[in-house]
Amino acid sequence: MKNIPFNNQYVNLGETFYVKTKPATVANPALIKFNEELANDLGLSVTSPEEYTDIFSGNVIPDGAEPLAMAYAGHQFGGFNPQLGDGRAILLGELDHPSGVSLSVQLKGSGQTFYSRNGDGCAALGPVLREYLVSEVMVKLGVPTTRALAAVTTGEQVARERMLPGGVITRVASSFVRVGTFEFFAARDNYEAVKQLADYVIEHNYPRVSEYENPYIAFLQAVVDRQANLIAQWMQLGFIHGVMNTDNMSIAGETIDYGPCAFMDVFDRNKVFSSIDRDGRYAYSNQASIGMWNLTRLAETLLPLFAKDSEAAIEIAKSVLETYIETYQRAWLDGMRNKCGLLEVSDKTVHEDKTLIDSLLDTMAANHADFTLTFFYLSRLSAQASQEDDAIRKLFDNPAQFDSWAARWRERLSNKKYSDVERQEKMQAVNPVYIPRNHQVEAAIRAAEDHGDFSVFHDLHEVLQNPYRKQKGRDSYMLPPEPHEEVTQTFCGT
Ligand code: AMP
Ligand code: MG
Repeated sequence: MKNIPFNNQYVNLGETFYVKTKPATVANPALIKFNEELANDLGLSVTSPEEYTDIFSGNVIPDGAEPLAMAYAGHQFGGFNPQLGDGRAILLGELDHPSGVSLSVQLKGSGQTFYSRNGDGCAALGPVLREYLVSEVMVKLGVPTTRALAAVTTGEQVARERMLPGGVITRVASSFVRVGTFEFFAARDNYEAVKQLADYVIEHNYPRVSEYENPYIAFLQAVVDRQANLIAQWMQLGFIHGVMNTDNMSIAGETIDYGPCAFMDVFDRNKVFSSIDRDGRYAYSNQASIGMWNLTRLAETLLPLFAKDSEAAIEIAKSVLETYIETYQRAWLDGMRNKCGLLEVSDKTVHEDKTLIDSLLDTMAANHADFTLTFFYLSRLSAQASQEDDAIRKLFDNPAQFDSWAARWRERLSNKKYSDVERQEKMQAVNPVYIPRNHQVEAAIRAAEDHGDFSVFHDLHEVLQNPYRKQKGRDSYMLPPEPHEEVTQTFCGT
């Protein structure tokens, strides 16, 4: 792989878009994890991953790479920062995937760049491991995401609240362009660059929209559709991104920038993990509306491309943005119906189904039921009440409240064409057995950072390779934290 067949395009946009930057070299790199599956998928033939440790640590720049740090701006917690950019990430280049799409390869934690501001450009091991675990389980859960190709330790220490071992993650994305990348140029009134960027993204990520009379309107529509569907998937898995700033929203509709993200255990609509999200702006139940807020910022940057007349352009933007709500609600309802096994769906039952689903969520919230386990057990219930109800009932503080919901659920399922087995199979395909529970991610990080022990990380990663399949001897990975294990706060690691 030392001759990775890069085919770099971003670099051709010109130097207003980035600053060419070489990764910093590190003292003593060691490979923690290499993603063979992804490497194969990319058509890279890597026989001995250790030989590539130097590349994944930034010590050696592979042939064909043209490393650069991308410029972007962003709304962070609602306030605009016109100058962010890759402060601790470096794009190595782009690869042509065998399917014809191009993918970008980036090192994160590989030293300072022009955009580092006061930061050291480094990553502590913890956030590297968290991103590796969570982004790769997202793939297996069927959620669009950036991927992890490799994780290394640097052999150096980074200064955070205390000294911690450093790491570098190599990640792969359909695009590292963010909503904030568009904002960077719009904020400088550089609409020539906005157009250039839009053309680049359309060519690489949305080729079909180029057929439209105004491809930029179709582009916004396509981004809106992808984000609405993405966030609906997060909600169905109890995933909380944690920092949905516009610089952390991918233009390609992939989950990106795994900072203080976490999956919730007990269902709580107001759940927040991130230590920096003091007002709960990015709480679980705010994610859909924040998606809309961020897309509105994107639309603003594209207005001059929609129509010459600014009033007309605004009307166009509004009409596209309005579709977000409907697309999101549809995606949410479709997914939740599947999770609940409401398989015979029709427009007539939309209201009834939504009420039933909301009522389950309300009952879970009021009874401190574990999100993942509730759907796990629900996927194993019969359409007739039985002994099997015991396990799910125990998740609810007051099991009788679950019973009354279950009676309504069974009423809805009665006389339908799917057998228990058929319905359960479909439900189990969308309701994971395992998620990266926060206390387990934390345990993997603690073992690695504090004791140089990666076995906890490797075991957890292995279980999460098949999140929908129950694995022998792995029941402990299904369990919510004991009170003393609970991790209530997560950190960006910056
Ligand atoms: P994030 O919270 O990872 O989305 O980062 C927000 C901004 O801060 C981005 O511009 C990052 O590149 C930058 N940043 C975060 N951590 C560091 C760091 N350790 N060194 C330099 N820049 C950083
Ligand atoms: Mg970021």
